[in-house]
This record gives sequence, structure tokens and C-alpha cells, in this order.
Amino acid sequence: MQILLVEDELRLAKALKQILEENKYMVDAVANGQDGLDYGLSGIYDIIILDVMLPKMDGMTVAKTLREKGVNTPIIMLTARDSIRDKITGLDSGADDYMTKPFSPNELLARIRALTRRYSEVLADVTEFGDFTFNTSVSTVSKGDKSIKLNFKEAEILKLLILRKNVPVSKEELITKVWGFESDAGDSNVEAYISFVRRKLAFIQSEITVTSYKKRGYMLESANAKETA
Ligand code: CA
Repeated sequence: MQILLVEDELRLAKALKQILEENKYMVDAVANGQDGLDYGLSGIYDIIILDVMLPKMDGMTVAKTLREKGVNTPIIMLTARDSIRDKITGLDSGADDYMTKPFSPNELLARIRALTRRYSEVLADVTEFGDFTFNTSVSTVSKGDKSIKLNFKEAEILKLLILRKNVPVSKEELITKVWGFESDAGDSNVEAYISFVRRKLAFIQSEITVTSYKKRGYMLESANAKETA
């Protein structure tokens, strides 16, 4: 589980990073809004903890920009302010949850667990994407009367690609999330499994395929769109 922490109060940032790491999260900490946006756009994080008052770019703008660019990583906003208006503005800008400083680390950990649970449940048992249906409970993709079963890794890859929609998923992220952080899987493992997923989508004659973008990763797209792009 990877967390991006965007907080300019260095003592608080350091304390939070330590607590999160003690709880087995991997944490990247940055201290201004612009870095927060740049890191957040990578799409590799499971949660972004985002302060509102930040140098260079405020947290609301960071959240709003991430959402506009299609990054749907859950965001917990941290603010010293506790007015209803600020909360509404924050949630409107794309944050998923809110914490008012000062807060207890245990509460933050509880919110993180709640959000990641919610996030992992974002995909319903039966999810439609483009012209195909992905049944996650039995790991099948189908279109019309054609259906084929995915193995565990293929299904995990497809889930990530569907959740990310129009933001490419990098090879590094696929390795971390599908094979595990400590695995020694490499690019060639990812490439092999991506080709399996492509083959299965082709088998059910879906117009959707997995396109690859040099250095940025993989994305689900209409096979026709790729040709005209
Ligand atoms: Ca601040």
C-alpha cells in the first residue's frame, strides 16, 4: 500500500510518515502543492493525504486538477480550518474525506483503512467496460454469447486497468500490486500477462484492447481509437 503525503509542516509530516511506516505503509512525502500534483499524477498511490494550505499550489487545486486529469486515487484532506464551507469546497474539489487538525493518528489510520476498503470495492461484482462485461466474482469477461475465464493475475490486471480508466497504469505499479512489492517479477512478466489479457479480450471479440504507451504504461481503449490516434 503506497501513500502520498503532501504536508508542508515538516514536524507533522515527519511524525505522520513515521506512524504510517510503522503500520506497513510505504510513504512518499512532499512539502508543496506542485510536487503533490506531480507525484499524484503518477497514479501509483493508493491514498493521497493532502494538506489544504500549501506553498506553490493549495490542496483544493491539487485535488481538483488530479480529478480533472482522471486520477481517482482516494484523497484525505487535512485542514486547520473546520468551517462547513471549507469542507464542502474540499469535497467538491474531489477529496473523499476530511480531517481537521489536530487529529489522532489512530483516527487517520482508521480513515485510511475505510477508504482503501471502499476503493477496492469500487469494482462491482459485475462491471461493464466498453462493450464487455467483467464478472469479478467468477473472473470472466464476456461479450454477447462469448465468455472466457481469466486467471488470478489477469483478473487483477484487468481490475486495475478498469479502475484507472483513462490514465495509464505503469509496469512498476502492476508489478507492485499484482505480483507484490517483494516479488522479483520484471517487465517481461508484465508484458506476458498483458498479452494474455489482450488475447482474452480478442477472444470474446471485444473492441476494447490493452494499449501500451511507451514509458507510461497500459490503458484500456477501443482498438479502433488506437488506429486513428
Ligand atoms: Ca500547511
